[in-house]
Amino acid sequence: MNDKNVTRRQFLATASASTMAAVASVGIPAYGKPGRKAAKLAILGGKPVRAKSFPSWPVWDRTAEESVLSILRSGNWFRGRGKTVSEFEEKYAALMGVKRCVCTMNGTNALLTAMHVLDIGVGDEIIVSPYTFIATYNVVIGSSALPVFADTDPETFQINPDKIEERINENTKAILPVHILGLPANMDKINAIAGKHNLIVIEDACQAWLAEWRGKKCGTMSDLGCFSFQNSKHLPCGEGGAIVGDDDEIMDKCFSYHNCGRPYGSVKRTSSYPIIGTNRRMTEYQAAILLSQMKRLEEDTETRNKNAHYLTSKIKDIPGIIPHKLYEGVTRAAYHLYPFRYKKEHFKNLPRSRFLAALGAEGIPCSGGYGPQYKDGLIEDALNSKNFKRSFSKQRLDRYREELHYPDNDQLCEEAVWLSQRLLLATKRDMDDIADAILKIYENRDNLAKA
Ligand SMILES: *Cc1c(COP(=O)(O)O)cnc(C)c1O
Repeated sequence: MNDKNVTRRQFLATASASTMAAVASVGIPAYGKPGRKAAKLAILGGKPVRAKSFPSWPVWDRTAEESVLSILRSGNWFRGRGKTVSEFEEKYAALMGVKRCVCTMNGTNALLTAMHVLDIGVGDEIIVSPYTFIATYNVVIGSSALPVFADTDPETFQINPDKIEERINENTKAILPVHILGLPANMDKINAIAGKHNLIVIEDACQAWLAEWRGKKCGTMSDLGCFSFQNSKHLPCGEGGAIVGDDDEIMDKCFSYHNCGRPYGSVKRTSSYPIIGTNRRMTEYQAAILLSQMKRLEEDTETRNKNAHYLTSKIKDIPGIIPHKLYEGVTRAAYHLYPFRYKKEHFKNLPRSRFLAALGAEGIPCSGGYGPQYKDGLIEDALNSKNFKRSFSKQRLDRYREELHYPDNDQLCEEAVWLSQRLLLATKRDMDDIADAILKIYENRDNLAKA
């Protein structure tokens, strides 16, 4: 293994200074067939490394058909007249290693419910990562709270735990860590900071099913954890979500709130509607699909991890390609995305968009991921809303605007390259194709720059 790595590095050093013919004549086993990479880039009219497509998503079998059909034929489509949602809640709580689970119609509403039940709202500041799916922004704003960003750690793509404390003030109520891309955030540091400042922690684990931090599942290391089961997610049912937790009273309140505020458990029947509520219930169909999808989650997660680690070993020595790091406490990732950084200095200053186009042309679907979304309209829209103007002083909002600079995040947004989780469900040989395509672009960077 070590020998190969040395050879590889030497090979790269030579390759960068030599002609394509010389590259083609060197047989380096670690890279598969060198001829495939030295060849003309597909974007310049050559043959792509890969013609086959990758697995599509979602994947399903016939096991859901019978249960979905029987629910349809029974007329018992909502959870009050069936047992399927409750069955899934029990099984999901067991899978996560927590006492309780309450399902919702999606992940956004799982987060909104968690925030409401933990009394997060008007005037509060919530510390979040700017590098997340927009739903995380939306639920904070939707709860009439200020999303206060702590800059991103570009090595791990997660919230930088060392930038959290400087964002805390007397209005800070909670930290909302996101295990973004399915890679665990640094929960040791986050929980230590929260403990010190007496803050609530809600984990946005909407991309992190079965991911683990020191053997504990993501979503189970805080006051409440939230999950999404949307179509693209690893445990999908079209739309769906869940809140998990160990505190019976809080979970009773989640259930009650998601069910129109009706009494439930410790939420006492002092009247028909003792507390504020909404309707955020999951349907029986959603749960039937989840029960069937849950059967493949463990094995898929194992496959994604194996392939991700192998891919990292294949691309880590290519100059200008920096694979994501996992924190030392990560015992397992979910790999909703496989991310690495592209340093254009090593690619003749070719912009990332050109690299992405070249990689796509070689038959490897890829994207640049999130942009600096805090500069999109939604934050300004929120700050200008009647709701925010009434809830926060002008000075607070002015100061907030001035602080909206997250340079590490912005640089990451320019350098990130994402591969979708479905690519990681392919074979080891398919990972070689990805590595070969990246190396082919590296070796052809002169040709690409000239074109
Ligand atoms: C998908 C997702 C959500 C929201 O889940 P929906 O089910 O789409 O509402 C929230 N946060 C993150 C990080 C997500 O990826």
